[in-house]
Amino acid sequence: MTELTDLQFDQQHLWHPYTSMTQPLPAFKVKKAYGATIELEDGRQLIDGMSSWWCAIHGYNHPELNQAAAEQLQRMSHIMFGGLTHDPAIQLGRLLLEITPPSLSKIFYADSGSVAVEVALKMAVQYWTAQGQTAKTNFVTPRSGYHGDTWNAMSVCDPVTGMHQIFGSSLPNRIFVPAPQTGFYDEWDQQDSAALEQALEAHHGSIAGLILEPVVQGAGGMRFYHPEYLRQAKLLCKKYNILLIFDEIATGFGRTGKLFAWEHAGVEPDIMCIGKGLTGGYMTLSAVLTSAHVAETISRSEAGVFMHGPTFMANPLACAVALKSTQLLLAQDWQANIQRIEQQLRHKLQPLAALEYVQDVRILGAIGVVELKFNVDMQALQRQFVERGIWVRPFGKLVYVMPPYVISDAELNKLLQQLAAVVAGMQEHAA
Ligand code: PMP
Repeated sequence: MTELTDLQFDQQHLWHPYTSMTQPLPAFKVKKAYGATIELEDGRQLIDGMSSWWCAIHGYNHPELNQAAAEQLQRMSHIMFGGLTHDPAIQLGRLLLEITPPSLSKIFYADSGSVAVEVALKMAVQYWTAQGQTAKTNFVTPRSGYHGDTWNAMSVCDPVTGMHQIFGSSLPNRIFVPAPQTGFYDEWDQQDSAALEQALEAHHGSIAGLILEPVVQGAGGMRFYHPEYLRQAKLLCKKYNILLIFDEIATGFGRTGKLFAWEHAGVEPDIMCIGKGLTGGYMTLSAVLTSAHVAETISRSEAGVFMHGPTFMANPLACAVALKSTQLLLAQDWQANIQRIEQQLRHKLQPLAALEYVQDVRILGAIGVVELKFNVDMQALQRQFVERGIWVRPFGKLVYVMPPYVISDAELNKLLQQLAAVVAGMQEHAA
């Protein structure tokens, strides 16, 4: 048997995200990454437009994050959180409470974004059962949402673009309302929350919570909607006795121009999930924050405890890096930096809106989206981007970037120029 090359082994044995095992799209082998640069095995250097799916906010191989990890490694990489605690978890918790909604004061550390969503949903159900409201177990959510790939997270993803068709009746039936239609920069249309009100009025007896991504719907369509929707959602949740859950896993840590997207509306949720940028993309960690009221209600229940406790809960290594990453962000004028990126995104991407096959160009904070009128050929596009020295991974009709905040003006300029050139060159395909 001939020896497989590394890439052949990868192709034949390693499953990649949302990919066929028999006909995978080619994967590029990375040797190392630093700052906003991804260096491939063959020496090619790519400017990163993805922040590894939102998380590498400070870029790669950051000396201070490396140091925080190395120092923590000397103490302990992991220790169980059952019956034990440690500085990284405590110091990170203190800092998180300073920057998250003031009404949230209890933190549950979890492993990943999807698990944070599971935890949030479980909290909401336990909150109502603790009060004898055992029928309140379902969830309502706007369409075009994305909340992760685990069972219940999937169930609240958009039922069309999500995974409902494949998993069918094995997924719990959720209550979907139309996605908010008023754009972030448009004038608020009060009708936009009418369907939500109708759904809550009809089903509130069975609903534990409303879960949504505040302001930016990410993987469900990269849509930016009006913050007033959040204010209406809050009022309606109060009126109909429903917990409001914000999934800030993608929007957190400055990405939308605010530290967290709830600040666009000044609306505080009952439960909030954070992840991704929490560790600056170094390793997986998420957190679920809730109010004293929710936590105390659960803790007063017959069960008396919240029923979740992952093996790697509050992993010290991840908490130490998360602490340093958050400190790094707060120590700089991150708002000015996000504005710098936003301006360049606007300047370079907006002109693409004039192309006949471009549906829309939208920019918010350090997120730039070009929506086409047709689904892109991901493999062909990916190859072109790599040939031009940039790393952008489109999906569906969307070509989008959310670069690491450390990206320089020159790097950002190249990233956007090359992206724009590829999109402008799609003329033939569009014809
Ligand atoms: N919620 C949102 C809004 C997300 O963008 C994601 C990840 N794309 C998740 C949840 C799931 O996070 P993870 O991939 O870490 O499980």
